[in-house]
Amino acid sequence: MTDKATPASDRLGLKPGVVTGADYRRLVETCRDEGYALPAVNVVGTDSINAVLEAAARNRADVIIQLSNGGARFYAGEGMKDADQARVLGAVAAARHVHTVAAAYGVCVILHTDHADRKLLPWISGLIDASEEAVRETGRPLFSSHMIDLSAEPLEDNIAECAAFLRRMTPLGIGLEIELGVTGGEEDGVGHDVDDGADNAHLYTQPEDVLKAYEALSPLGFVTIAASFGNVHGVYAPGNVKLRPEILRNSQAVVAQATGRGDRPLALVFHGGSGSEQAKITEAVSYGVFKMNIDTDIQFAFASSIGRYVHEHAEAFSHQIAPSTGKPTKKLYDPRKWLRVGEQGIVARLEQSFADLGATGRSVARAVQVS
Ligand SMILES: [Zn+2]
Repeated sequence: MTDKATPASDRLGLKPGVVTGADYRRLVETCRDEGYALPAVNVVGTDSINAVLEAAARNRADVIIQLSNGGARFYAGEGMKDADQARVLGAVAAARHVHTVAAAYGVCVILHTDHADRKLLPWISGLIDASEEAVRETGRPLFSSHMIDLSAEPLEDNIAECAAFLRRMTPLGIGLEIELGVTGGEEDGVGHDVDDGADNAHLYTQPEDVLKAYEALSPLGFVTIAASFGNVHGVYAPGNVKLRPEILRNSQAVVAQATGRGDRPLALVFHGGSGSEQAKITEAVSYGVFKMNIDTDIQFAFASSIGRYVHEHAEAFSHQIAPSTGKPTKKLYDPRKWLRVGEQGIVARLEQSFADLGATGRSVARAVQVS
């Protein structure tokens, strides 16, 4: 158990910036053991990355920045002909951007890739190649962790493939997030139809499956687990989603009993966090969730802020000289103006996320001397 009287930042004092290897693991275990979680935000460019870092710095919180395959492709440019190549290059470029600027924000950042099903395994393979090169050059991998989501396949196949990847990732200092049971909804073409309904058994992970996966994979490296407890990607009308966080508690209990590794041996991940009730979030975090994915609500925060701005300054988006005043509108349509408004929307929404997850003020990064 950790000493609750001493702030984690005093005990860990990790170097600000991207954490990998042992530091990544210490941050994850600190969150889990102290009962708080970090938002994992899907980013698509420097605007969203910088906004996430700004929000983390303002709230003195550590944060998780993640790229979906589509986000990575977008980062490289939708005009790039070879989509597979764009997914790898975009993720590498985004990682390099985060590595370059993150430390200056004074917080710790976990850098991660989101859902990769079987057809996307070559994407992860390409990123591991890039991390092998980065380790040779700098001693550090590009990413803290990758997710492999073979939850739609038989458990044995899921575990076997994850084991093969983990054997390559562990020596580089990269962790693995796996998925057991399926998260409803779809994200970037990976996922399942929400019309399956909330009562469908495959939306709820079996604790026995969690134990099987944990026993097979944890000897090979550091594994975190996205267990399904009725969570769904996207935001739907109330009543469509029935969250059952007790599945997480039961999974911890089954693994704790079998392994004797404390009462919360698993580091759990909550997918589809957007639009969730606060009580269910708090309950899930209390069962060892260290990471809650939030994508849809962040997209809306960005879009709705810009939408308001465009509505308020409609003239500037259709005329370089305002018909109403005869004056130039350049200062209003300068992309830095409205992109900044979008960034501020993300920052405001994330302030709420850090508070919801209990992460505010808990960065484990050591204080940086300001000259
Ligand atoms: Zn997800």
